[in-house]
Formats: sequence, C-alpha cells, structure tokens
Amino acid sequence: MKNIVVIGAGTMGNGIAHTAAASGFDVTLIDVAQAFLDRGMSTISANLQRGVDKGKMTADEKASVLGRINASTNVDDAKDADLVIEAIIENVAAKTDLFRRLDELTKPECILSSNTSSISITKIAAATKRPDKVIGMHFMNPVPVMALVEVIRGIATSDETYRLVEETSKKMGKTPIEVNDYPGFISNRVLMPMINEAIFALFEGVATPESIDGVMKLGMNHPMGPLTLADFIGLDVCLAILRVLEDGFGDPKYRPCPLLVKMVDAGWLGRKSGRGFYSYNK
Ligand code: NAD
Repeated sequence: MKNIVVIGAGTMGNGIAHTAAASGFDVTLIDVAQAFLDRGMSTISANLQRGVDKGKMTADEKASVLGRINASTNVDDAKDADLVIEAIIENVAAKTDLFRRLDELTKPECILSSNTSSISITKIAAATKRPDKVIGMHFMNPVPVMALVEVIRGIATSDETYRLVEETSKKMGKTPIEVNDYPGFISNRVLMPMINEAIFALFEGVATPESIDGVMKLGMNHPMGPLTLADFIGLDVCLAILRVLEDGFGDPKYRPCPLLVKMVDAGWLGRKSGRGFYSYNK
C-alpha cells in the first residue's frame, strides 16, 4: 500500500486525507469541484497548523504532509491507487455509480473501500466485478482525533482484503475493529437506538434535555449526552440512519421518534442549522 486515493473532500474526506498523508502515504484527494478541494485543503492546513502551534510538529513537517496530498477534480486520477477510500455523499445511487466507474479505471488488485455510515457494503460491492476487494472503512469524526476504524466485511470480502485494510488502518495510527455487514454495522446500530430513546424520553416529558444528557454524562461516564451528540451529528443524519435500521431489519423497535421527524421537517438539524435540542445562535 503506497498510493491512497480519497474521494470526497468534505468533513470526513479531508480528515482521512490528512491522517493518511501524516502517516506517510501518498494521497490523491478527489472532489467534483475545485472549490470543495480548496475548502478541504484549507481545513487540513488549519488542523495541521494547530499541531505546529502546540509544538507537536514542525512547520517543515506540516509542509511535507501537505506536499504528499495531490488534489484533483478528475476521478481518472484514481487509476494508480492501491487503496481507494470513498467519502462522498451518503446516497446509494451516487456510491454505486462511483464504484462502477472505479472498478473500470483502477488496477485489478486495487482495494475499493467506503466510509459509508449505513449503506450496505455488499450492495456497493455488487456494482463492481471485484466484490472480494470491496470493504467498509468507517472512520469517526473528527478523523485525525478518533482512534476507531470500523472495518466492515461485505458478504464477498476476502480475508486478504480484510488483512490489507487492517494493516493499513494500523499504519494510519488507527485501531481497526472487524464487523460484518448488517444495517448500521455496530456503531450506529447501538448508538442510534440510544439517541432515539433519549428523544422519546424528552417527547414523553420524562426530563429536560439538560437532565437527560446530565444523567448519561455523570451516570454512565459518556463524554457527551445523547441529545448533544445528536445535535453534533445532525438530526437529519440521525433520522436517515434510523430509517436504514427500520427498513433493513423490518423491526418497529427502530421507529424514529415523532419528535425527531418533526424537528427535521422544521429544519432544526442541530449545530449546523443553529438549532436542535439546544440553541447554537450566538
Ligand atoms: P460532506 O457533505 O461533508 O462531504 C462530501 C463531499 O463529497 C463533498 O465535498 C462533495 O462535493 C463530494 N462529492 C459528492 N459526490 C461526489 C462524487 N461523485 N465524486 C467526488 N466527490 C463527490 O460529507 P461527510 O460528512 O464528509 O460524509 C461523507 C461520507 O462519510 C458519507 O458516506 C457519510 O455517511 C460518512 N460518514 C460521515 C460521518 C460524519 O460524522 N460526518 C461519520 C462517519 C461516516
């Protein structure tokens, strides 16, 4: 593994490119427009600068990390990749189209991975002629800080593909954990019902948002309460993942709380919209 191609320069993609380049890999970061690449590269530069300011790296090291990232708007620049990490929008059609294209243009031995939060790896793999080389690499936000990579094996993912991705994740300074491909994997299958239950408790008037979060922080040692975390993730994202669980298992226990549905309808999406369970307007 030498050349890593990251597709999508948004929140996750720029964090993955940063982490891979800081671990010595040659990185190509691809997005659909130069403006998205510029924004991603300036986020990486600002995050690296924080390390320089804290004395964790020198200005020269920062420059060499940035120098290992080549930004491009042309997906054909994925052709020399040893590993592709896809981090584009969470949309099945967009991801399957991209994987079909990557299957045509990359070397036969190249591993194609997705950072999807909830879409089936098996379904993405079925769009290619190399399902044995398709796998999930689910990084957590913010990528340079969070230790976990949830590595998801689709139904056809080979042991060799898993081994190479496990090794590469470790070289990126992360701790890979193996899971199989079922809706929500482990992270969101466990997290989202907890968040949903916290919203039901609020909906039923059991306690205020501050009290619900306070119980989970002080009583369960969670660094952040579930409602604060939902605001951070985005309420639209939480709702979409609950729908994936509900549809995928056909089990009403994943039914999203009507309050969550109503807040998303209102455009109250959490931190990013200025209002969720808490208000973020200055
Ligand atoms: P984002 O909206 O911040 O970034 C997505 C980027 O992909 C945008 O810059 C967009 O221009 C680009 N893009 C869209 N279609 C493209 C295409 N066909 N080719 C190239 N670039 C394309 O999204 P994000 O939050 O970084 O999420 C990316 C993926 O990571 C999603 O699958 C999401 O579910 C997953 N994820 C997100 C988080 C999170 O906390 N944000 C955590 C884990 C996983």
